[in-house]
Amino acid sequence: MSEKNNMLPVDDAARIQNVVKGTSKTLDEIGVELLTVSTDMKTVHAKRIGGFFRQIKNVSAFLWLSFFLLPYVRWDDRQALLFDLPNRQFHIFAITILPQDIWMLASILLFAAMALAAASALAGRVWCGYFCFQTVWMDVFTWIEEKIQGGPNKRIALDQSPWTAEKLRLKGITNAIFLALSFLTGFTFVAYFTDALALWQDLFTGNLGGFAWLAIAGLTITTFFFASKLREQTCTLFCPYARIQGAMIDKQTILPTYDRDRGEPRGRMKRVRPGEEEPKLGDCIDCNLCVAVCPTGVDIRKGQQIGCITCGLCIDACDSVMKKLDKPLGLIRYASIEEFEGKTLPPLYKRPRVLVYTGIMALAAGVLIYGLATIAPMKLNVLHERSPLFVMLSDGSIQNKLTIKVVNKTDKVMMVKLSASGLEGLRVEGNEVPIMVSPGSVGATTLLVKADKKVLSGANTPIIIEAVDVNNPVIHQKYNSMFIGPK
Ligand code: SF4
Ligand code: SF4
Repeated sequence: MSEKNNMLPVDDAARIQNVVKGTSKTLDEIGVELLTVSTDMKTVHAKRIGGFFRQIKNVSAFLWLSFFLLPYVRWDDRQALLFDLPNRQFHIFAITILPQDIWMLASILLFAAMALAAASALAGRVWCGYFCFQTVWMDVFTWIEEKIQGGPNKRIALDQSPWTAEKLRLKGITNAIFLALSFLTGFTFVAYFTDALALWQDLFTGNLGGFAWLAIAGLTITTFFFASKLREQTCTLFCPYARIQGAMIDKQTILPTYDRDRGEPRGRMKRVRPGEEEPKLGDCIDCNLCVAVCPTGVDIRKGQQIGCITCGLCIDACDSVMKKLDKPLGLIRYASIEEFEGKTLPPLYKRPRVLVYTGIMALAAGVLIYGLATIAPMKLNVLHERSPLFVMLSDGSIQNKLTIKVVNKTDKVMMVKLSASGLEGLRVEGNEVPIMVSPGSVGATTLLVKADKKVLSGANTPIIIEAVDVNNPVIHQKYNSMFIGPK
């Protein structure tokens, strides 16, 4: 398990002794903070510093705002994203997916799983580091905590101090905001499964159903617990992805890695007295900033650990120190084991693992594109009566019995008019009135189709069955069937 990175500045006496190698300046003078790391704290209070990877995390948190906004986007008089479980319909903007098309959802999930696997093969837990719900919420919650309670040292001191009115006030405000944000998270999640505006209305008028309350309360409690209390322990102890990542990465996967050859032996340069030999030290000045910023409390200098979510914040931290020391950046950097072995990374198309994942992704994407291109608001199915295949009527004409099934994939009622064509003098019984098909359901009826024997071209003569929604005639489907007669 990783250590908890609660850091304290080293005392002044120790700080002024540390000098920058090759100069007479102290680390304090060039603005490098030296920290000691305490490993016995219950909660990680990570330090926040700027940098490239911090910006990526900020952008990701900003993108997650769309989670709260999307339920209010409308499309065609309804919610654009609506997972309507009671009616078994998933609306995704213009597309409505019914249980019959569930394979499309399966291909989306397959694509997402393979994208995750490919990303892991390339750069480890990048999903966890930048985009995961848990780490993003944890990041936002700790940002709020810092705004109210102050930086890491103040929060540590507050945690350790006895309960006073001031501590009660600060903790109370922080937890009230956490709870409000957790409630909003739970409420928003539920809003993807029902009309969001109606949900607000039900909330304020006291008409929210028991199931909705249960779902919102459950999600509020879990969000509050995981993002504000359990925090990084979710990533290190509970996340199943952390457990399987070892199987998804290889020696070519780039991960935040400490350049041991360059950094060791680590240490803080002391002023040398005349006649004393300057100690031979690596570039790591053991300032502990990389540990102090880590949201999961990992000391990356000890090598890869299960708690590392590859967020790159330790890279930002170390680069900021190297900049001040006027040394090359990248003492901690995204690098693969093979790079440290002096090998050059092969191009992506020569990496079997990446090829397999992208191949499956391409397949899933192809299936999805095909599904989207061919998805129709109505599906027509025609089943031929097997026994008997046809009936010879007293007037000498032939009759076929067809079972017609119409699937309504829209969210509006369809009035479906059926017809048959393709044979001269074809007569149809059973289509006198349109059949009503409710949204997301299947309507069935029986047609009796009759034709004179002399117009048949053999045992099987092609005919066309057509269904048209009389409410909206642009919705129509044709089915190529056969009229069966004697040989
Ligand atoms: S060790 Fe570095 S990359 Fe890994 S979680 Fe900590 S800060 Fe992020
Ligand atoms: S690796 Fe960089 S940030 Fe970490 S202790 Fe060494 S110098 Fe400081």
